[in-house]
Amino acid sequence: MITRDFAYHAPADLGGVTAALAGGDAVIVGGGTMVVPDMTHGRTTPGVVVDLSRAGLAGLTQTAGGEVVVGATTTYTQLLRGGELAPLLRRVAGGVTGGPQIRNKGTVGGSACYANPSSEIPAALLALGARMRLASARGVREVAAADFFTGAFTTERRPDEVLAAVVLPSPDGPAFGYHKLKLSESSWPIATAACVRGPGGWRVALGGVAATPLLVTIESADPRHVRAEVARVLTEPWSDVLADGDYRRRVAPVVALRALKEGEAS
Ligand SMILES: Cc1cc2nc3c(=O)[nH]c(=O)nc-3n(C[C@H](O)[C@H](O)[C@H](O)COP(=O)(O)OP(=O)(O)OC[C@H]3O[C@@H](n4cnc5c(N)ncnc54)[C@H](O)[C@@H]3O)c2cc1C
Repeated sequence: MITRDFAYHAPADLGGVTAALAGGDAVIVGGGTMVVPDMTHGRTTPGVVVDLSRAGLAGLTQTAGGEVVVGATTTYTQLLRGGELAPLLRRVAGGVTGGPQIRNKGTVGGSACYANPSSEIPAALLALGARMRLASARGVREVAAADFFTGAFTTERRPDEVLAAVVLPSPDGPAFGYHKLKLSESSWPIATAACVRGPGGWRVALGGVAATPLLVTIESADPRHVRAEVARVLTEPWSDVLADGDYRRRVAPVVALRALKEGEAS
């Protein structure tokens, strides 16, 4: 039960959102799949709630320069039905658990801003070289995904900022792969790997294995090379009730290799 009264705003555009956030102490609701339960259980007790559902921030568009802008409130279902411009994100959306409720309500921006180490979108954004477009009453700035995720459940976003969109440098093309390791169909992933072929080799982003997603560039899918590169970046593995750090250290290169295998076959 939500015990504290709060002011509720559901602005009709981005300007209304940034105005409502200007005080700096509001909680944003994207799809609400994480933050509403947090409010119900008293883990978050905001005085102001800003609901993005009417702000017109959903959908994928391609700019004249070829970049793909994914609106922050784009849901997993929208990625599945119209995600041709972002096939890796669509691939990730296809494996999200929780049924239609989560797929229809959960958003790209909510996943990124919650920054749960086990969430799947952050590592995919890192592999894609995405930029996070943050808006506030002070203006708009963009932060590279590599700099956005600062720790478990923490990001570079300031309290008065909304993530308006993520910007992908170009459609990720046919060469990408994704793999995740879970204990059961409905559990959080223990490790994920998203890979995208770039000019210098494969950009492989590991999720679930550390507080923040980790990026390695892999020139060839040679297992010894992959193991060495993963070991180089995975210095502080994440540990939780699903698996300890040693287990994650052992499975991370295997998950990376499986993503690369899928990528090389694509
Ligand atoms: C049953 C269940 C199954 C799930 N399965 C998966 C899964 O398989 N894979 C996976 O990765 N995740 C999973 N999740 C986690 C989660 O629901 C999703 O990842 C979802 O995308 C979160 O988005 P949301 O819009 O609902 O976030 P919300 O709950 O609305 O928000 C989450 C956080 O981000 C903030 N926020 C939201 N949008 C913005 C924005 N645009 N700008 C700034 N801050 C914002 C909120 O204030 C809050 O702190 C699951 C959750 C549940 C309950």
